[in-house]
Amino acid sequence: MTVATMLIGGLAIITAALLVVLEFGRRGWTLSSPEDRHLNAHLNAQSRRILSSAVEQSHSGVVIADCTGVIEYVNPRYSQITGYSSSEAVGRLAELMNNDELTDANNLTLQEAMQLGAGWETFMVSIRKNGDRFWQQVTASPIHDDLGSLSHIVLNIDDISERVETQAQMEKLAFYDPLTGLENRRLFRDRLDQGLKRVRRSKKGMALLFLDLDQFKRINDTLGHDAGDELLCVVAQRLRSCVREEDIVSRLGGDEFTILLADIAHADDASLVARKILKALQDPIPLGEQEVIVSCSIGITIAPEDSMNASVLMRNADLAMYRAKDQGRNNFQYFTDDMNIESQARMSLENELRLAVNNEDFVVFFQPQVNLNERRICGFEALVRWRHEQVDLISPDRFIPVAEETGLIIKVGEIVLRQACRQMSEMQARGLTGLTVAVNLSARQFRDRNLVSMIRKTLQETGLEPQWLELEITESMLMDNIEQAIDILTELKAIGVTIAIDDFGTGYSSLSYLTRLPVDKLKVDRSFVSNLPESPRHTAIATAIIAMAQRLRLQVVAEGVETQPQADFLHGHQCSILQGYLFGRPVDASELPAQMLDLEKRISLENLLLPVTALAH
Ligand code: C2E
Ligand code: MG
Ligand code: MG
Repeated sequence: MTVATMLIGGLAIITAALLVVLEFGRRGWTLSSPEDRHLNAHLNAQSRRILSSAVEQSHSGVVIADCTGVIEYVNPRYSQITGYSSSEAVGRLAELMNNDELTDANNLTLQEAMQLGAGWETFMVSIRKNGDRFWQQVTASPIHDDLGSLSHIVLNIDDISERVETQAQMEKLAFYDPLTGLENRRLFRDRLDQGLKRVRRSKKGMALLFLDLDQFKRINDTLGHDAGDELLCVVAQRLRSCVREEDIVSRLGGDEFTILLADIAHADDASLVARKILKALQDPIPLGEQEVIVSCSIGITIAPEDSMNASVLMRNADLAMYRAKDQGRNNFQYFTDDMNIESQARMSLENELRLAVNNEDFVVFFQPQVNLNERRICGFEALVRWRHEQVDLISPDRFIPVAEETGLIIKVGEIVLRQACRQMSEMQARGLTGLTVAVNLSARQFRDRNLVSMIRKTLQETGLEPQWLELEITESMLMDNIEQAIDILTELKAIGVTIAIDDFGTGYSSLSYLTRLPVDKLKVDRSFVSNLPESPRHTAIATAIIAMAQRLRLQVVAEGVETQPQADFLHGHQCSILQGYLFGRPVDASELPAQMLDLEKRISLENLLLPVTALAH
């Protein structure tokens, strides 16, 4: 039951009671025998008393006016609501609080209602004696005399301002984003449907823009949520300023916004707005002491060309937005059909991956790491492959991002860890001791609450001692939320495992952060190693990382070592642990013994290695 119907219900009861009493009183006079008359006079007096006290004490304002609308009586509640005392009101027209400007033109006036002789009910804005406006609900009931002509009118008046206000607020909550004041997802969907109807009628086009801020999470994490909120508000204002009054801007949630441009003549019109938005966001946004610059990626879809279905349009714009992100962010892209094909391929990859996780269709390959100072193999990196029925082996670069987005990575990660630990445990049982196994953790795994207990359990089940397990975590995973990362790393270290920062040099970490992180190793990213020793820039970076690691007393590993000169350079600069095709490709556990034999022979020789081409297969 809504507030309004409750209200109407309440009023109806009061009015009905009033009318019954009036009616009873009226009939009383028409009875004829003396006893009856006496009894009736008594009842009459009593009923009048009841009537008057009911009316006097009513929670509604009550006005009784004659058939010309002149007030004969008002109760105390009426005076309370309107500020007019009984003496001020009586004798004036019952419409004294009305305000034509404020009243809905469709409402009957009191005079009109009286002419019709019908009951009448309305909501309207009225004016109190002191000039304040308020919402009132008025119910008017006509009273007729014995001949059936209108003699009086009874008005029930309720001040419903508070309820109207609450209702307006509830509506605001239901349809508007409380942070930015923009329309929310729900209202946006309504607008989209209305927009489509308009397209159908007017034959003019409509554009739907889907915007997502670039790197918003990073800003939020580094500057805090309050700053993030402030930023969203500024962005909302700027978006509004880029469009016409009649265009719709809404916030779907997080850092996602949508814009509806109605009545566009050409698809190109949307790109004007998109450009304007990209430009408007270029101005730095002051947040407390700092200034930040944000950019966004925009996907655009056009009705009726792309679709006339609201859900399809939303999906199109979303796909186009992702394409804009892929294109390096801070740009806009129109939806094209190939995006659909791409997304279908992605869907089927997702489904197949789900099946693969259930069937555990993954195999872990091992790539050796050698310690050139000690001239021995010191461990392996475990690298997962998806064993696919039709495609054979699928590389992790193709499916890890999908697994990460869908959350399947948690299961995949468990499978890899279990296989890697089991293999190492078996090697140790065969006498191959002193070797570590490095397992990669993805961002989602790293933030998974069960990570620590899962690792503990896996070590126990496979019988591998924690000191032989190394976990590789990328730099960007740590930088997303440094305090949380320190907590997780501390817990992991407490298990007794080693921690390495993978792909080092590609993230954003600063020296001051590094000193606070409980890590043991840095892995110099392949991209720097591959250009050694020719590129002066990469040589500088690689040597700086090695020097930094030494200063922080961290071990340093170089990955992606393919050539002898690279190995010589690194070894010459005190980076003695190396990994790469020069020493061996990642192989299946069954091929490992042969590969190890071959490699040990090579590294035990004084002049190390064969050219990489000889190892190519
Ligand atoms: P990563 O952890 O940096 O692993 C090193 C990658 O470089 C591996 O690719 C490896 O095969 C390749 N590599 C090794 N030596 C050389 C070399 O000399 N030259 C070149 N060009 N490449 C070399 P892979 O196996 O395709 O793995 C790619 C990435 O996938 C890994 O990069 C890692 O980030 C991710 N990944 C692999 N396995 C897992 C896993 O089990 N879990 C998670 N979360 N990620 C994994
Ligand atoms: Mg790795
Ligand atoms: Mg790496």
